[in-house]
Amino acid sequence: MSITLKDLSERYCVCDGKKFRLKDFEADDTWKLESKDEAAKLLEHSLDKLAELQGRLYAQNEWALLLIFQAMDAAGKDGTIKHVMSGVNPQGCEVFSFKAPSAEELDHDFLWRTMKNLPERGRIGIFNRSYYEETLVVRVHKEFLTKQKLPEKLVTKNIWRERFEDISSVERYMGRNGIIVRKFFLNVSREEQKERFMKRLDEPKKNWKFSAADIRERQCWPQYMEAYEDTIRHTATEQAPWYVVPADHKWFTRLVVASVIVDTLESLKLKFPDVAPEVRKEFAAARAALKNEK
Ligand code: ATP
Ligand code: MG
Repeated sequence: MSITLKDLSERYCVCDGKKFRLKDFEADDTWKLESKDEAAKLLEHSLDKLAELQGRLYAQNEWALLLIFQAMDAAGKDGTIKHVMSGVNPQGCEVFSFKAPSAEELDHDFLWRTMKNLPERGRIGIFNRSYYEETLVVRVHKEFLTKQKLPEKLVTKNIWRERFEDISSVERYMGRNGIIVRKFFLNVSREEQKERFMKRLDEPKKNWKFSAADIRERQCWPQYMEAYEDTIRHTATEQAPWYVVPADHKWFTRLVVASVIVDTLESLKLKFPDVAPEVRKEFAAARAALKNEK
């Protein structure tokens, strides 16, 4: 039996978080595919489809797609975004990276900086990190919460549950406005992260990617995994599912992400807009005018 893009998309989908356990998902899974070469054809096919579907999304100008990427360092967010979006029209797609918040951003509510950058109709928006940092890094390092200058009486033991509720509400709002949300957790193992950090230290061309802060975050691995599990449990829904994508093999990560995007766009049954009959009548005159041009 050969694997379809839909199979790949469904296998890693979490659309009801209640029973989600991170340990049920393997970081080094490649399902029935054994090598990069075997996956290459499927990936090529998915990227061709993606380019075609993006053309329709743009022309129809009704739906928007928001892709959210979250992961530990060196899981391959940047490379996945680069490869998967390599064939799409840059005019129809925009990438935003969210780092530690600036002073201006800290003066606003936590959704402010991301809400300003939601994709327009017909576009694909990509968030490299997102408002999910608010229940991940901010939960692991409580000092970030202090920096947010929230009124003291609002910071209670319920703060994380409240953030999950607010995030789920805003994602429901997006869905009701035609913004389709798909969230990717690139699930890399701690061992593979170590290998990749070593390469960053050893290979001169990769040195720039190394940051001592990444080693410090690595020490908090168990706390991060707990935060990811709890976040996915509380925010995976039918309309805004999480995909727990195996990330120990980059070629497989890219294939799964591309499959999810293609499957999502296909489900929208996108069409090129119809031309109104009165406009079509003008075609003959336009054709004649072009032919008769001197
Ligand atoms: P790469 O994966 O290529 O290293 P990066 O996305 O990790 O890129 P960095 O310059 O390392 O980029 O910085 C991003 C850092 O900002 C991350 O450690 C992230 O957890 C942190 N960050 C993002 N949002 C917030 C937030 N709301 N509060 C505190 N820290 C945040
Ligand atoms: Mg980093």
